[in-house]
Amino acid sequence: MIVNHHERIHSDEGNLCKKCMSELENLYIYLELSTEELDLLDMPRRSFTVHFPVHMDSGKTKMFLGHRVQYNDARGPTKGGIRFHPELTLDDVRDLAFLMALKCAVVNIPFGGAKGGVAVNPKELSRRELELVTRGYIRAISDYIGPYKDIPAPDVYTDEKIMAWILDEFERIKGEHVPGVVTGKPIELGGSKARSYSTSLGGIHVLEEALKKTKMNKSKARIAIQGFGNVGENAARILHQTGYKITAVSDSRGGVMNDEGLDIPELMEHKQKTGSVMDFRGGKNITNEELLVSDCDILIPAALSEQLNESNAKDVKAKLILELANAPTTIEADGVFQDKKILVIPDILANAGGVVVSFFEWVQNLNNDYWEEDKVLEKLKSTMVASFNDVYGMCIEENCSMRRAAYQLAVKRILHAEKLRGNL
Ligand code: NAD
Repeated sequence: MIVNHHERIHSDEGNLCKKCMSELENLYIYLELSTEELDLLDMPRRSFTVHFPVHMDSGKTKMFLGHRVQYNDARGPTKGGIRFHPELTLDDVRDLAFLMALKCAVVNIPFGGAKGGVAVNPKELSRRELELVTRGYIRAISDYIGPYKDIPAPDVYTDEKIMAWILDEFERIKGEHVPGVVTGKPIELGGSKARSYSTSLGGIHVLEEALKKTKMNKSKARIAIQGFGNVGENAARILHQTGYKITAVSDSRGGVMNDEGLDIPELMEHKQKTGSVMDFRGGKNITNEELLVSDCDILIPAALSEQLNESNAKDVKAKLILELANAPTTIEADGVFQDKKILVIPDILANAGGVVVSFFEWVQNLNNDYWEEDKVLEKLKSTMVASFNDVYGMCIEENCSMRRAAYQLAVKRILHAEKLRGNL
C-alpha cells in the first residue's frame, strides 16, 4: 500500500536534511513501501534528552541540555558524531542520525546510524568547562553507549581532544579499557592512522571512479573547491599531489583563482601565515559566489550546506559535482543539475570516507591490532570503489540520479536487515 508520507515525515526546520527527507518521500512512493516498512524507517529506535549540572568557573552550577538519537541498528551498533552547538535541537539530531544510518548502509559497513550533542557554544567555555561539559554528557548517556551499542565520534565543534575525554570518562565509569566506545581518538589512545584525511581521500576515490565512467580527461580537468578546512584543504592537497589542476579555492573570507592551476603547498603555507587563502600572490582574489560559478570541470563544495541553490545553480559550469560537504545542494538546485546533465555525486557517498575509517578504527580497537597506514588506505580505497560501483550500477539499472540510487540502495539494505531479523 502506498500511503501519503507527507505528514509523517520529520519536520524539516533543520534544513540540513530537507533534501534527504524530500528524496526519501519520493523514494517511499517509488519503491512502493508498505506501511510497516514506512513506520520502521520513520521512527528512531531510541531518542532521548538529558540534563546535567556543571560547576562553572564562576563558582555557580549551570544545567546543560544534551540529546542522543539511535536511529536504526538493524545492520549493527549505531554510529554517529557528537556536536556542540548552541542551537542544537532534538529534531536536528534525529534527522542527522537518520542520515548516518543511510550513509553507513551506502558504504556497506555494519553500523546503524546515530547522532548526539549538547546545546552549548563551546567558544564561550573555558578549557576546564569544556571538559566538564563533555564528561557530564557522557555520564548522562553512559548506559546507552558502548562498542556494541552506540559509538560516538567527532562532529561540528568537537575534536579528538574531546574524544579522548569521552574515552576516559567512559572507562572510569566501566572500570576497564574500552577503546572501541568512541572513534576519532588521538592515535596514542587507539585512533586510526589516516582518519584525519579519510573523508577527503574517500571522496577522491569516488571521483576517480566517476571520471572513468564519464571519460573525462583527468589531466585536463580544472577543479574548484569551496572551503579550505579539514575536508577542503586535504582534498586540495591530495588532488594536487595526484596531478590534478586546482583552479580555485575559497574559505569563509573569500577565494583565490588561477586558470593555470594554484600551487597548493604554497597556498597552504600562505593560509597558515595569514589565516586565509585570499591575497595569495599565485592567484587573483574572487568571491565565494564567483568560485561556485567559475569556469571549471569539477566543483567540490566542502564548506557549508545549501551553497548551491536556486540563485546560482543555472550558472554552474562544472560537469561534475562532488559533495564533500553535507547537503551543499538544495532541492531546487538538484533539479537544475539534473536538467543540465551535471553528474552530482551525493554527500552520503562522497563524504563517507570518514565513517569508513571510523569503522576500521573500531575494528582495530576490538581486535587490539593496529594497522599500518598502507593497510588503512588500501581498505578505504576498496570500500569506496565498491560503494561507488554499487550506486552507479543502481543508477544505470534504474535510470535515475546518483542521489536517488544511493538512497534507494541504503533503504533496501536497511529493510533487508530488518527482514532477516524477523522485524518485517
Ligand atoms: P572545517 O570547519 O574544518 O572547515 C570549513 C571550511 O569552510 C573552512 O575553510 C571555512 O573557512 C569554510 N567556510 C565557512 N563559511 C564559508 C563560506 N560562507 N563560504 C566558503 N567557505 C566557508 O569543517 P570540515 O570538517 O572541513 O567540514 C566541511 C564540510 O564537510 C561540512 O559540511 C561537514 O559537515 C562535512 N563533512 C566533514 C567530515 C569530516 O570528516 N570532517 C565528514 C563528513 C562531512
